[in-house]
Amino acid sequence: MARILVIEDNATNMKLAVLMLQREGYEILQAADAEEGIRLARAELPDLILMDVQLPGMDGLAATRLLKGDAATNKIRIVALTALAMSGDREKIEAAGCDGYIAKPIHYQEFLKTVGQMVAGDTYDFPSGPH
Ligand code: MN
Repeated sequence: MARILVIEDNATNMKLAVLMLQREGYEILQAADAEEGIRLARAELPDLILMDVQLPGMDGLAATRLLKGDAATNKIRIVALTALAMSGDREKIEAAGCDGYIAKPIHYQEFLKTVGQMVAGDTYDFPSGPH
């Protein structure tokens, strides 16, 4: 089963994501900040990273740029988890190298659908804007 690294500083959101993903049978790695997330990504090469955009210290988009700029990790798909919904945010997320995004609060079905597509390597159309 696919291994997913969740990088999220909010303990409630982390717990929710982990519960949903484990119920689907995914193996989960967890990091509460970008530095630990990058360390785990390099060490474990997960199949997918769910990246909170707003993190203490280095933010999720900076972490994404770093991972996508490194030949060792640039094949890992990264999905941004974002509460941002302003015009232009999608472009920023895409420009940082994210392969997709999921808007928070997380909706169970949409979340698992996007994760499933990403893990399967399916082509993914970036949502055209905030919901
Ligand atoms: Mn956060």
